[in-house]
Amino acid sequence: MALARGQAVFIDKDGTLIHDVPFNISPHQVRLMEGAGETLQRLKKAGYQLLVISNQSGVARGLFNEADLLPVNRQIQILLAPYAVNIDAFYYCPHGPDDGCGCRKPKPGMILRAARNHAIELSISWMIGDILHDVEAGNRAGCHTILFNNGNETEWLQGDFRRPGYVVNHLSAAADIICHDACPRQKYEQ
Ligand SMILES: [Mg+2]
Ligand SMILES: [Zn+2]
Repeated sequence: MALARGQAVFIDKDGTLIHDVPFNISPHQVRLMEGAGETLQRLKKAGYQLLVISNQSGVARGLFNEADLLPVNRQIQILLAPYAVNIDAFYYCPHGPDDGCGCRKPKPGMILRAARNHAIELSISWMIGDILHDVEAGNRAGCHTILFNNGNETEWLQGDFRRPGYVVNHLSAAADIICHDACPRQKYEQ
């Protein structure tokens, strides 16, 4: 019998999970976004795996190596520990905008790879990000999508796959939406 595939929330890192400090690799500059700890705690309790999906073109630009991001990952886990929650995996695209890779958002490659690696069913999973590239990647992968509209999206380029399922101004509202969707299903299964 095949094991049931799980549900996940894919989360953009810079500007969504933590405050955006461009090309930062210093753990000292890592600050969780307001409400991030409580939001991820609720999502974890609702049964979602938590996977970070992040473009890191600083690697392609020669500013740092992919391994230099590990202290940032560790710091995020340290900051989330008081909420009894941790990130299940971090996915980074190390390429630049002109490299033509399949993983840099708005391409869905990182989400698709994460879904394969973690046995995730995309149709019951979510992508949260602060720009429409995140939304497009999530929609292309077949997830539900939430735009965390904190002012970082400034171009609002329209196109296929760039319409978010929901728009929120605070991360806690994303958890409200996702858990509202998830909780009735859990009730029926009891
Ligand atoms: Mg972002
Ligand atoms: Zn890439």
